Amino acid sequence: MSTIVRPLIRYGYAPLMLLGINGAGIALAAGGANKAWLLALLIAAIALSFAVERLLPYRSVWNSSHGDAGRDTAHTFVNETLILTSVAAIPALAALVPGDGIWPTGWPFVVQVLIAILVADFGITLTHYASHKIGLLWRFHAVHHSVTRFYGLNGLMKHPLHQTLEMTAGVTPLLLAGIPVPVAAALSLAVAVQLLLQHSNADYRVGPFKYVLALNEGHRFHHLKWAGIGDVNFGLFTLLWDHLLRTYSYDPARRFTSADLGMAAKPDYPVGYLAQLAEPFTRHGACTATSGNSTENSSDATAVGRDRETIQPIG
Ligand SMILES: [Zn+2]
Repeated sequence: MSTIVRPLIRYGYAPLMLLGINGAGIALAAGGANKAWLLALLIAAIALSFAVERLLPYRSVWNSSHGDAGRDTAHTFVNETLILTSVAAIPALAALVPGDGIWPTGWPFVVQVLIAILVADFGITLTHYASHKIGLLWRFHAVHHSVTRFYGLNGLMKHPLHQTLEMTAGVTPLLLAGIPVPVAAALSLAVAVQLLLQHSNADYRVGPFKYVLALNEGHRFHHLKWAGIGDVNFGLFTLLWDHLLRTYSYDPARRFTSADLGMAAKPDYPVGYLAQLAEPFTRHGACTATSGNSTENSSDATAVGRDRETIQPIG
């Protein structure tokens, strides 16, 4: 690749997604466009994500299926359908909310979307944090942490119950406040774009924004397989809550391979789609520790789902 194209992709990809795709989505939603246009933007974002991962991969090997492509397609289809269905259900849900709400409908549309993003970021990030601290929640979140390659679709590789819990926490305050459907539609596109960027195998850069935005450079640390070390950088959109919770972690020298990812305590986690749906309900879907004692009810839940005996230093 030419010396011009590579840096263009490296530094242009994130702005294209965050400002270009989201900006187009906000303009369409604000203009009352048919929702099919937002769906078309979502498909364009997924196609762009796959293309850039191949043009500028962080690890080429992460672009190939590790026997997980079919499983991930199923997760993506189910979870994206859930997101789109919940957006479609907003008018019916809004009718159940008493009063007119406090949503600032007179404010500029883009500001309304930014407010929605910040509120959703708060609910989703704290639910994610809780999912690493509470054994019952970790059972369902463990599906997401079983990945051993890091690429765009991983963001939707979640147990549907875990995703529903996160989304409920993120969206309920917005519903109660009376969020308009077009703002929610723009938010749902922004969530999808964020998940693609956050787990992307593209070696893109955002300069100092990596300390503020919850993108892939920071999120790789979240997928480190050792307890404690991987319990960092929980944010969906921003790292604001990680700075406040003191769970922010970053080391510019750190490089990642498949051997660093996943769950040290569960190297044999099921890989099939249906097996992953069932795993949280099984006895072995609980948290484990090498000491042999279950940490399911442990008050020291820092290492709730991972192997605290094999913590490895970063570097
Ligand atoms: Zn997590």
